[in-house]
Amino acid sequence: MKIAIYGAGNCGEYIIREIKEAKKSNIEAMLFIDNNPIYKDKDKYGIPIVDLEGFIKCYCKTVEAVLIAVSDELVAQELAVSLLNKDYKNIYLIPEALWTGKLPVLNSNGGLAVYIKHISDMKPVLPYVEYHVSDFCNLKCRRCGHFSNLVTEKKFPDIIEFENTLKGLQQKFRNVKSFRLMGGEPFVNPDLGLFIYKVREFFPYADIRVVSNGLIIPQAGQETVEAIRKCGVIIDISQYPPTRDMIEKILQFSWDNNLKIQIEEKITRFFISMGANISENYEEIYSKCMSRKCHFLRGENLYACPGVILLFENKEFLEIDVNKNDVIYNSFNLISGNEDGWDIMKAFLSPFTFCKHCTDMEWHNWEPSKGKVDRKDWIINN
Ligand code: SF4
Ligand code: SF4
Repeated sequence: MKIAIYGAGNCGEYIIREIKEAKKSNIEAMLFIDNNPIYKDKDKYGIPIVDLEGFIKCYCKTVEAVLIAVSDELVAQELAVSLLNKDYKNIYLIPEALWTGKLPVLNSNGGLAVYIKHISDMKPVLPYVEYHVSDFCNLKCRRCGHFSNLVTEKKFPDIIEFENTLKGLQQKFRNVKSFRLMGGEPFVNPDLGLFIYKVREFFPYADIRVVSNGLIIPQAGQETVEAIRKCGVIIDISQYPPTRDMIEKILQFSWDNNLKIQIEEKITRFFISMGANISENYEEIYSKCMSRKCHFLRGENLYACPGVILLFENKEFLEIDVNKNDVIYNSFNLISGNEDGWDIMKAFLSPFTFCKHCTDMEWHNWEPSKGKVDRKDWIINN
């Protein structure tokens, strides 16, 4: 089999050495693919290095398979998606264990070791997802990025619907690297523990976080506390000024209850990014956006970012024209949708049309909401 190795660094070199030193090998390395400009017109071990464009232009018909040679699984996945986006599909992923354990690349018959998998035999990892266990928030910051200061009623999502959605998510992704239960304020939901147990059941290796402003943590019930402890959850505390004022109580409670917490940096500023007008160049807006990897689960759907659905839900208040088809086009139904995890990752790692509603960020000092909330709080160039 004629192969290319995507990644000309240490991992790529390791594969070449393994192939060259094997007693028997049916694998011939034709070239490296690497976009790092330091490798332009270079070779290693006499094997030429080309960038992705060069590979697609000149070699993709002769090379039978590409092995991704990068140790970080999410970076490796991004490289695989960059090939898929060019319609090249014969891609093999190498598990992290091969790099850490310096395992053989080839088996005794000279073929690829069984743990080097074709992407059609391996679901991707969803790097990050966030989910509102409560839209309501006890703090109500002005310009809340998730519009929680507009929410007046404590209504919580249905645990059965959440379970079905997680089932759908699990069919498409083998893991979720970082799963953040948030809101609003998650501790407002008395059943927070049930949501935690469900995430742990479907994604045993996920790094589960509860993202909280901390203010009502000392009032958390024992069932919630136990779920956090049993499921190895970390509480990420967003340090708003009122949070800082009661930080002693929050820390004391977490120590008394053996809860693991992580206190984020002091929050003094918020940004807004919604434009009053449609942006012409949504690709550039996407490339600069800090939220583009904050994928969002709501109902049965997975969205590239929270903005897609939250702008739609609040469009009357915001007095903006958000087309429902645009929302559907920029989301994936996890229960009825036919797309697999790779289709979703292809979309999530590319600029998407909904970004036309955003523009360059504008920063404001943090402050609590006071009086009637104004739509202009979220809109730039009004
Ligand atoms: S604490 Fe967080 S969720 Fe609550 S209003 Fe402030 S920014 Fe929004
Ligand atoms: S729609 Fe695009 S630009 Fe706007 S917040 Fe989401 S990812 Fe960022």
